[in-house]
Amino acid sequence: MFTSTEIRGRARTKIIATLGPASSDPKMIAALARAGADVFRLNMAHGGPEEQQPKVDAIRAVSEEIDLPLGILADLGGPKIRLGDVEGDRMLCETDAEFFFVEGDVSSAPNELTCTYEPLVEELSVGDMVMLADGTVSMRVEQKLADRVRTRVIQRGVIRSRQGINLPDVRLSAPAISVVDHQHALWAAKAGVDFVSLSFVRAPDEVRALRDILRSAGSKAPVVSKIEKREAIERLDEIIEASDAVMVARGDLGVEIDVAQMPVEQKRIVNTCHRYQKPAIIATQMLDSMHESTRPKRSEVTDVANAVLDGADACMLSGETAIGKYPLEAVQMMNRICLAIEESIAGRPPKADANPKPTLHPITRAVVQGAGEMAYSLKAKLVFCASHSGATALGLSQQRSFVPTIGVSTSEKTLRKMSLYWGVTPLRHAPAQDMQQLIRHADRWACSVGLAKKGDRIVIVGGSHLAAGPEQKEMARGVHDIVIVHEVEGE
Ligand code: PGA
Ligand code: MN
Repeated sequence: MFTSTEIRGRARTKIIATLGPASSDPKMIAALARAGADVFRLNMAHGGPEEQQPKVDAIRAVSEEIDLPLGILADLGGPKIRLGDVEGDRMLCETDAEFFFVEGDVSSAPNELTCTYEPLVEELSVGDMVMLADGTVSMRVEQKLADRVRTRVIQRGVIRSRQGINLPDVRLSAPAISVVDHQHALWAAKAGVDFVSLSFVRAPDEVRALRDILRSAGSKAPVVSKIEKREAIERLDEIIEASDAVMVARGDLGVEIDVAQMPVEQKRIVNTCHRYQKPAIIATQMLDSMHESTRPKRSEVTDVANAVLDGADACMLSGETAIGKYPLEAVQMMNRICLAIEESIAGRPPKADANPKPTLHPITRAVVQGAGEMAYSLKAKLVFCASHSGATALGLSQQRSFVPTIGVSTSEKTLRKMSLYWGVTPLRHAPAQDMQQLIRHADRWACSVGLAKKGDRIVIVGGSHLAAGPEQKEMARGVHDIVIVHEVEGE
């Protein structure tokens, strides 16, 4: 990869593509990556380890082939409740019709419904809403009986076997991480995926629990919290602080809270993520009509553009790339929309770091701030950042500077983390022995790909540990205390 045209042709906003039957072929994965997909999502709710492992292998092979670090996100299903079997597999629920949710998993009449969540009947109260078929069908609980609840259809529509159920009014006792989620997390750790997300997060402890599972299985993968419950909205700051990244999971969020309130929450979540410097992903139905069409709706184009304006780090495609007819066109379209809107806001000065709980070393923090400001005022062609853990690259990303940021690392894991960082191009790089070597490398690389020419300025962020002996190296690891403005010498 990596010519200046290729770098400029990729949106700064990162694109996550969900893999599924329409996109699991290695050739398609390569095409999606070339078209702008940075991270691939594996939906664990739709397939366990046996199904996902070949995709992991294919993504890693493609990444080598096209010389571009690619991220893999394993998305754990979490406490999703599903309907049992519905008679005839689909059924029309008419307004005012009566339905019963019964205990156990056998239904003895068409209007008796079962579900995968054992304590459902016990935990429902009179007045609670049961939302089915993505919120298109709703029933209200009218009466509690010994082994069942009686509900009445408020909003008519068709329900299907094994569809998801949302219970916006109920505080479920279901554990955040089921036995299956736990097994999937262990697999994800072993498979070396780069991000693990948890569905239906309700509390910061759940995020920490997943991180502990991953760490004890030897994985340092960042944990992504999917915000799709009212409880998460109520504890947003704490959850974001405990997470490494956040997803605005609008599919379920738009059913669990009033859909009209959802855009307000999207903006609040993204703003809170910015404050804590955690990447924010906007997900679901972004280009929904592209399941069936090569052209998106005008409202969808505007939705993607507005997500970028809200400050999203990444936009996600779900069914569009997993089961849609036009996975490649969907990624290309998303990339084009992001590029167009980014162009319109280019030239803004870098944002100041206002994190109330900074995680960077104070020296690194000041260096990152200074580097961004210098690159901006000197109209530098790029910022070259040698990052050991990726934290410095994330700090630069959060400034939303339009000067391209090149995150170089010797660690493949760090490079893959950068695949989620807005505006950061991850670049594989042999270890630099000292700052001089790093400068020479940045100079040559920038010229060879055509991002800079003789006389242009580039900004390089590094650390004095690059020039130190082994002892200081260990001590200073992770601290960036050098910013250099270099005038390109050319070849
Ligand atoms: P899902 O999560 O696709 O796994 O349900 C995303 C969402 O709810 O928007
Ligand atoms: Mn969801």
